[in-house]
Amino acid sequence: MTQSFTVAIDGPAAAGKGTISKAVAAHFGFAHLDTGLLYRAVGRRTLDGVDAIEAAQALTAEELELGDLRTAEIAQAASKVAVIPEVRAALVDFQRAFARRAGGAVLDGRDIGTVICPHAEVKLFVTASPEVRAERRFLELLAKGAEVTRAQVLADVRERDARDADRSTAPMKPAEDAVLLDTSDLSIEEALGKAIALVTAQRPTGL
Ligand code: C5P
Repeated sequence: MTQSFTVAIDGPAAAGKGTISKAVAAHFGFAHLDTGLLYRAVGRRTLDGVDAIEAAQALTAEELELGDLRTAEIAQAASKVAVIPEVRAALVDFQRAFARRAGGAVLDGRDIGTVICPHAEVKLFVTASPEVRAERRFLELLAKGAEVTRAQVLADVRERDARDADRSTAPMKPAEDAVLLDTSDLSIEEALGKAIALVTAQRPTGL
């Protein structure tokens, strides 16, 4: 199998894109890259005092597996390093190579359909209202034992949305040819069903 096929899934935090991406990849046997982890790994290094650009240029795949990158503190650090053009530039080649690997790839992030893979065969922009997303993230953090309030998580979501959407380099936005999927009133199964139908319609025979 030598054919490549890229599914780009973008959207704001806690809209469901991670869950959908993982499940789509598993359903079709494609590889999956959560590109948020790249920014989180760089963000974590800055919390240790390392320069963001140096951390991005030296990032290794192993760092993505080390410890828990999905904390609220690292999420904020990630969205701060993500506004730096040199940080973004240092991470482009790895993401593009992953996207064009043989056998199909799903990448989820903020700028996959617009900047990283503008020619992706499938583009999906997954969104939901800030309140719904904050509630989902709150329950996730609670399950991990984090001490947070709903109000804090909503403020955090709004702050990160604003920083991601307003930055000048690769702001979060749907590609012009992306399909919008609002999961505010959908169950995971319903949202996943729509994503799988979309990929099925575009998938080349033999993949
Ligand atoms: O998706 P996740 O919440 O893990 O992403 C953490 C942060 O990394 C985002 O808030 C965003 O600032 C940044 N990011 C980005 N571009 C991507 C993926 C994530 O700027 N493709």
